[in-house]
Amino acid sequence: MATGDYYEILGIPKNADEKEIKKAYRTLARKYHPDVCKEPGAEERFKQINEAYSVLSDSQKRAQYDHLGHESFTHASKGSYAGGGGFGGFSTDFSGFGDIFDFFGGGFGGQRQTAPRPGADLLMRLQIILDDAVFGTDREIEVSHTEPCSACDGTGSETKKRVSCKTCGGSGQLRQMSQTIFGQFVRMSTCPDCRGLGKVPETRCPDCRGAGVTQVRRKVQVHIPAGIDSGMRLRMEGYGEAGDFGAENGDLFIEIQVKPHDLFTRHGDNLEMVAEITPAQAVAGSVITVETIDKKHVELTIPAGIQHDTALKIQGEGVRRRGRPGDLLVRIRIRIPKHPSPEVRDLYEKILEIEGSQAGHEKKGFFSGIMGKK
Ligand SMILES: [Zn+2]
Ligand SMILES: [Zn+2]
Repeated sequence: MATGDYYEILGIPKNADEKEIKKAYRTLARKYHPDVCKEPGAEERFKQINEAYSVLSDSQKRAQYDHLGHESFTHASKGSYAGGGGFGGFSTDFSGFGDIFDFFGGGFGGQRQTAPRPGADLLMRLQIILDDAVFGTDREIEVSHTEPCSACDGTGSETKKRVSCKTCGGSGQLRQMSQTIFGQFVRMSTCPDCRGLGKVPETRCPDCRGAGVTQVRRKVQVHIPAGIDSGMRLRMEGYGEAGDFGAENGDLFIEIQVKPHDLFTRHGDNLEMVAEITPAQAVAGSVITVETIDKKHVELTIPAGIQHDTALKIQGEGVRRRGRPGDLLVRIRIRIPKHPSPEVRDLYEKILEIEGSQAGHEKKGFFSGIMGKK
């Protein structure tokens, strides 16, 4: 649907606050509302405005959008079905419509009929390994949800026809009059037979027993963009439960959980690992080889005099987020040899001499000396 950046669609800067977003949205929604604007393409524009607003007005979604970038974010949101289909004609409802009613003065004239209700959203959790979060991946998942019944095209009727409800005469509402000493009262209630829709299946579909929906399991391809982190949710538009006849399906939300890695920890878009070096490497400087998360061998120069716990940066070897990938931080640990060879120990003792320190007792070694176990 929308191809442009959500900020551009609403004509606001990237750092716009909540108020500015809402103001821009209201102005544009009023201008392009299909009932008001007769310009060609107004409806499409209105949908884009709503889509942009639904993301930017939700702080969690907005953070995810800013983090992943427009393309990754929207690509992630739109899955593709393996098989399936039958969703045509279910796209007339506008998301964010409820909010519009506020400032259009409630309703659009005519008799108030309950709009067909959109389907419920579904939430599922998906665990991925850190590598997949770093590079992005495609996964096939199985989702169990309701879909419009294929036998009756979602109408609930064997004849695929929906007719006016006899109970309420098609208004979706029942009027109950009561006479009291204060006068006549009219009470309106939702028609129980058509649930306020005003229409019912002409003849009951035997496959779905008139419900218009059936429970199915589907395989769905999910694109997981690089940069995703634990707690982020991917939205698969239309993969939730089927709505009432004529209404949109709900969405499927996939909440990502990234499993911890044995060697790498993640800090934002950076990865961190530990490399051990000897005291001599720390003092004299050295070149070591480290293995990155994609098993690449990279040479890393240890500068002479490096201190314990210093992190050295290898650029671009972190999370491969589009635009600005993270870095790999190699935290240097100086490992003291516990059992140095006699030759090495002699050399350390020589250093002690030069420093003017006293060596530990004879062959008991350097360490017991330092520990004061003399
Ligand atoms: Zn059916
Ligand atoms: Zn009715």
